[in-house]
Amino acid sequence: MNKGKQLIFKEIDRLGPGFRAISLAIGAKPELGHEEFFASELLGEELLRLGFSLERGVLDMPTSFIAEYDSGKPGPLIGLLCEYDALPEIGHACGHHLICSMSIAAAAGLKAAMTAGAIGGRIRVYGTPAEETRGAKVPMSEAGLFDDCDLALMAHPYHTFEQSGQSLAMDALQFEYAGKAAHAAANPHEGINALDAVLQLFSSVNALRQQTRSDARLHGIIDSGGKAPNIIPDYASAKFYIRSASRAYTNELTAKVIRCAEGAALQTGCTLKVSNYELSYDELMTNETLSSQFNANLLAAGIAPDQIESGKDNGSLDLGNVSVRCPAIHPYIKVVRERLLLHTEAFRDAAMEDYALDGMLFGAKMLAATAFDVCADSALLARIREEFAQAVRR
Ligand SMILES: [Zn+2]
Ligand SMILES: [Zn+2]
Repeated sequence: MNKGKQLIFKEIDRLGPGFRAISLAIGAKPELGHEEFFASELLGEELLRLGFSLERGVLDMPTSFIAEYDSGKPGPLIGLLCEYDALPEIGHACGHHLICSMSIAAAAGLKAAMTAGAIGGRIRVYGTPAEETRGAKVPMSEAGLFDDCDLALMAHPYHTFEQSGQSLAMDALQFEYAGKAAHAAANPHEGINALDAVLQLFSSVNALRQQTRSDARLHGIIDSGGKAPNIIPDYASAKFYIRSASRAYTNELTAKVIRCAEGAALQTGCTLKVSNYELSYDELMTNETLSSQFNANLLAAGIAPDQIESGKDNGSLDLGNVSVRCPAIHPYIKVVRERLLLHTEAFRDAAMEDYALDGMLFGAKMLAATAFDVCADSALLARIREEFAQAVRR
């Protein structure tokens, strides 16, 4: 094996017990998005100990941070991303307590190769709160905080290895209709029915769905639909997610859904308020050159090709917004023995076992080895940049 990579793996093994302890501590103390005070404190302390500079509370988000190490020698800027938010009720059922220590372990390993002089470059670790809700990567991307990165890397825990794939661009829209209350039996003619507007909106969206591309996903709920059947509802509200494989097409779909909503207001005489109830996510654009390099490292580490599935994520990730700013990958790492689904209690419990902690450290080695390859091979970096430039132009 390459000497630089040997250094990386040795360093991650040496510091492994500390990273396992961090995952276990964060896993045992789940915190919701933008409230991850315990986790961000613990991770920040660790980065300081590892010799990184640390800025907390980036963009006025108290639980975010950016840590940096500069080797002083020329080379690429490697971004590694940490997530550490949990889910309501079920805690760390998405395994984010493994993601954060995996990325920091990767940073520590890569730093060892840099201090030994095997490669040059800089490492930046991003603490990105609230992946599950109001993803911090969205404002961080908009503020240009990833624009100078040569790569952005992270890996997500899962029940199998999966290549970095696609995720959908997404808008989250709320439609609120205001009408006029009236007794539904005594004087219905004096009322304006806000629930009718919501029902019209749903039937228009259902009709629209037939004229959309197969990658489109339009799904909504009625979160307010009146108070009693004998009162004409003067207020009704629906929330929708509008998704597709590209930001451009999602924008088109969102404009059409808004026209459906306006039509429903016109039909019923209601007034309409449209708002975004969550941040909009862009599609994940996997950099295939970088992704192949990550796969090559998996294969070199003894993972068989048939153990690596192809990426086909139909959800939406806030890493999407990062991936349109710099070359990025979001592969999945096997951390549980059987096929347990994310966001379940069974996955949460398994993600605290030794097997999962081993998977976390293995993922760290693979991320660091991939970053090492890019730092060591300027032709590879040039190919990654060229693919990114072409993908962004499309
Ligand atoms: Zn999740
Ligand atoms: Zn997740």
